[in-house]
Amino acid sequence: MMKRTFASLALFAAAALSAAAQEPAKTAAAPAPPARTKLQELPRDEKGFLKPEVWALIEADAKANPTSNEARALQSRPMIKAYYATYATWTAPEPPAPPPGRLRNLSDTPKTPRFPLTGKVWPAKPGEASVCLWEDDKLAAMSLGVDDNSAGDLPYWRELSKKYGGLAITWNLITCNINGAIDKGRGPSAGSWAAWKQLRDEGYHLVSHSVTHLHDPVPADGWPGPDWEAAESIRTLDSHLPGQKTKLFVYPGAGVSYFGILGGYYPNSSWRPAIVKYYAAARGGGGEAINPANQIDYFNIHATTGSVPDLLGSTNPRMASQNLNKLFDPDPKNPNYRGWANIFIHFINNGKDFDTNPFTIAYGKTLAFYNDHRADLWTGFIDDVALYGQERDTATLTPEPAGAAELAFTLTTQMDPAVFDYPLTVKVRLPDAWQAAAAAQNHAVLPVQVIRHEGAPYALVKVVPDRGRVTLAPR
Ligand SMILES: [Zn+2]
Repeated sequence: MMKRTFASLALFAAAALSAAAQEPAKTAAAPAPPARTKLQELPRDEKGFLKPEVWALIEADAKANPTSNEARALQSRPMIKAYYATYATWTAPEPPAPPPGRLRNLSDTPKTPRFPLTGKVWPAKPGEASVCLWEDDKLAAMSLGVDDNSAGDLPYWRELSKKYGGLAITWNLITCNINGAIDKGRGPSAGSWAAWKQLRDEGYHLVSHSVTHLHDPVPADGWPGPDWEAAESIRTLDSHLPGQKTKLFVYPGAGVSYFGILGGYYPNSSWRPAIVKYYAAARGGGGEAINPANQIDYFNIHATTGSVPDLLGSTNPRMASQNLNKLFDPDPKNPNYRGWANIFIHFINNGKDFDTNPFTIAYGKTLAFYNDHRADLWTGFIDDVALYGQERDTATLTPEPAGAAELAFTLTTQMDPAVFDYPLTVKVRLPDAWQAAAAAQNHAVLPVQVIRHEGAPYALVKVVPDRGRVTLAPR
């Protein structure tokens, strides 16, 4: 194993500890860390952030275990303090305000379903229409993530993507050490801007996994705080990658358990206000993979890595609700019918782990599930699905009375149209005689697919909301 410093601390530790540091993992891939002082009992300032006295605890741990994350954090503390000093005059930028009456995001944690869950909807009369729960009227959704850059694995991920028919993977990037900007020795695992640009050009998505991944969240050391972790990672990604608009945040899990976010990624998280201020959505972690489609907390999108071995055929009754086959189980008592599953993974040893590591082998089985169920699954990127969900949850669809030669509807949402620009799939019942259809909006042609259900024709039209009237004509 290479000598690990700085970003590697996050890189390496996260694989073992990211779920464990924030909540007890139900089935962690690695042993849980030793019992620690509870996060809220640590020395904290009035805002809840750590006082420098926390370093005395870390020092004691480092002495007891010189190869621990604590020892590495202690060793690299001067380096990160010097890095923070370059931000001494940083002030939080004001995010662009949504237009009047529009929402920046849905930041509430829903206590009850936002709408009743149903099977696929089939409007009966020509001209009637509905917004599909998921893109292309798929039954359910599933997204994949790779955390902590893990740049050394990129060749193998490309191979895996080919093996499984194309994987819509989102890389969740810690931004501070890309190009070895702080720690050259660990640059390779953080990756280069050229490598990330290439990956993006290949169609993969990149989002923020913070600037420092809780490397030293101590204000007295110069840490500018969660606003900075949120806003500066966006600025860094968007300024280095042409065309990139970073809209989703992935909460970091601490390698040094004392550094865990107070409140984790839950509604009372000490970071959540900063994330809600700058992002359209955020992903958490923990034991659950599946988000009920009608009750998504868009700032704690459920995702799991620790529970991956339990997602297909676990004998643990607590994990029964998380079986990926629940996505297709219409039992009215199953809230995860038509839900959205998210799984993620870290370092895979550039593929070698797929032969030998039981956890990684289990992960491979979930990739096979993903590939085998493409007919019923929207295999969308997490940020796209998060936009789709919020647009859908606030959508108003207004079909016009059907004409003989034309159908029309208008689709609006409550969201900020500058950010929420992902097309929703609208299903329109066509007149019986229509064999094919063309759709247009402001003279632009929209993608349309005609399908049949019980003999009747339907159009699936992809429409970015809030851009005016959509018309359909027979073709
Ligand atoms: Zn991480």
